[in-house]
Amino acid sequence: MGSNDFDAIVVGAGHNGMCTAAYLQRAGFKTLLCERRHEEGGGVNTEEPVAPGFYHNMHAQFMEFIDYMPFYWDFELEKLGARMIYPEAQAGITFSDGRPPIVLHRPDLLDRTHESISRYSKADADTFVELKSKTMSIDQMFATNLYSPPMSLEERKQMESMAEGMLPFFGLEPVDMFKSPKVIIDEKFETDELRALLYRICIEWGMPVEQEMGGMSFAFAVLWMTGIWKLSVGGTHTLAKAMKQACLREGVTFRENSRVEKILVDDNGVCGVRIRGGEEFTAKVVATNADVRQVLLDLVGEENLSDTYIRRAKNFRYGPSHVLGTTCLALYEPPDYKSAKWDPEINKCFYTVVGFDSGAEMIRYIRQAYGDMLPDNPGAGTWVNTLWDPTQAPPDRHSLTGWFFFPVAEALSEDEWTDVREHYNEKFLARFREFAPNMTEHNIIGDRLYTPLDMEHKNMMINGDFSNGSFHLDQMGSNRPFPEAYRYATEIKGLYFCGPSAYPGGGITAAPGYNAFKVIAEDYGLEPIWKKKDRPY
Ligand SMILES: Cc1cc2nc3c(=O)[nH]c(=O)nc-3n(C[C@H](O)[C@H](O)[C@H](O)COP(=O)(O)OP(=O)(O)OC[C@H]3O[C@@H](n4cnc5c(N)ncnc54)[C@H](O)[C@@H]3O)c2cc1C
Repeated sequence: MGSNDFDAIVVGAGHNGMCTAAYLQRAGFKTLLCERRHEEGGGVNTEEPVAPGFYHNMHAQFMEFIDYMPFYWDFELEKLGARMIYPEAQAGITFSDGRPPIVLHRPDLLDRTHESISRYSKADADTFVELKSKTMSIDQMFATNLYSPPMSLEERKQMESMAEGMLPFFGLEPVDMFKSPKVIIDEKFETDELRALLYRICIEWGMPVEQEMGGMSFAFAVLWMTGIWKLSVGGTHTLAKAMKQACLREGVTFRENSRVEKILVDDNGVCGVRIRGGEEFTAKVVATNADVRQVLLDLVGEENLSDTYIRRAKNFRYGPSHVLGTTCLALYEPPDYKSAKWDPEINKCFYTVVGFDSGAEMIRYIRQAYGDMLPDNPGAGTWVNTLWDPTQAPPDRHSLTGWFFFPVAEALSEDEWTDVREHYNEKFLARFREFAPNMTEHNIIGDRLYTPLDMEHKNMMINGDFSNGSFHLDQMGSNRPFPEAYRYATEIKGLYFCGPSAYPGGGITAAPGYNAFKVIAEDYGLEPIWKKKDRPY
């Protein structure tokens, strides 16, 4: 083999691409990883956009699947520098009139969650704690689902009736399968303040809160994921670096600043890639972390695709449910909420929702963002990671990062996004002060807003969609990205998807990357490393 000849090439060093590359190399494939940016990580990314020494995670904040993620444990990422903190107060909502906040704690601290919700309703506190406990008792079932390739459509049909049958295990009825998460939340909980928080939590993972057939989304995104969020010490960049180290330790060849411009195809299937500048590399397998449309229409080219694939790629949809703007604030002191007089934990919550006084306000906000409009109420989900990890700002200073749900990038012109970048933070801070009076201009050292258009330009998250494909029902599960490519393999021999356009979608799961490796290993007779592990996946 020459120096440009490999068994496999992975396109894109997002965490999924690095996951696939590390496993392929470990299983015996000589692997090249090409990343178009100057650094690895994709959405696992920390920068200093406001002022030196103030770290902000520009994309992913909460690391919710670390305990389950095979890549993290199989490659001992903690020995390579990754480290997590597990904040006690996980998610909270605060109010402008100083009403009590609601604070949801880790699953091992449900008595504190119960106490917090009980300020409004003991019945809701009982229900939440019961549902959450039941869900955590079957967490391995969720994890197995995540870290296994999706079922075929036929298997899926059988599974759907099984899924309905599963719902009682976490306190739901089979009929809940057909409802939207919002309907389930409204039926289960009478407290408007809790509803507002749960609507928001549901959409954080891109699960549309008003989409019907949402029973499993509610169980997955609201019940399971709430409270299992970890914080990456030193910013998520530390995690990305550990992933890269893992790849290098296995022997993966890394090429940064190497945008793949063409996936080369011959009569036998894929045969390599060409990167910007013209250099070519050969391989019999190409796995790609990039989005479906780019891969099929730009990199492979219509001349190499069937009519069905061309049609599917052209019809693949991005947004609106995974589109965020990131606000970054450098602060002298963290927000001090009016609601803290009831429960000071709200001032030390990992994730705090600010700007919404009711469930109706939250729903209006979501409808506007999903409906191509800039929300007129600039509320956000916020993190002050320095409360837990002081290394993320200079001594006695704080970094606050927040997310706005925004319309898809193409809904506004470049000039309109420039205007948003320059002025939306002012509106946000004015609203913020109603909830935390110390968020005056004297407390703000600097600020920066990063729009969906910026995300598209920087990370190739099309339309700002961090899942590289919407979560409409026809693009989820065994339909993702589309039925003819649902199990990572494509109609072109040797070409696989290993990014969030494939099942199960976005988020720092490393699940598409891991599952794609499993399928490639089966197709090419590589060692089934996962079968030696003491876990069901
Ligand atoms: C604001 C925001 C907040 C988020 N918060 C969270 C969170 O808290 N928790 C969570 O779990 N998830 C979160 N996400 C989602 C998460 O960041 C993404 O779903 C995740 O990064 C997808 O990972 P990936 O590795 O598959 O792809 P990406 O991270 O998108 O990486 C893809 C990589 O491929 C490269 N690439 C693309 N095309 C080419 C090419 N032609 N040649 C070479 N390289 C190429 C890109 O440069 C990029 O590095 C958030 C996303 C955003 C935008």
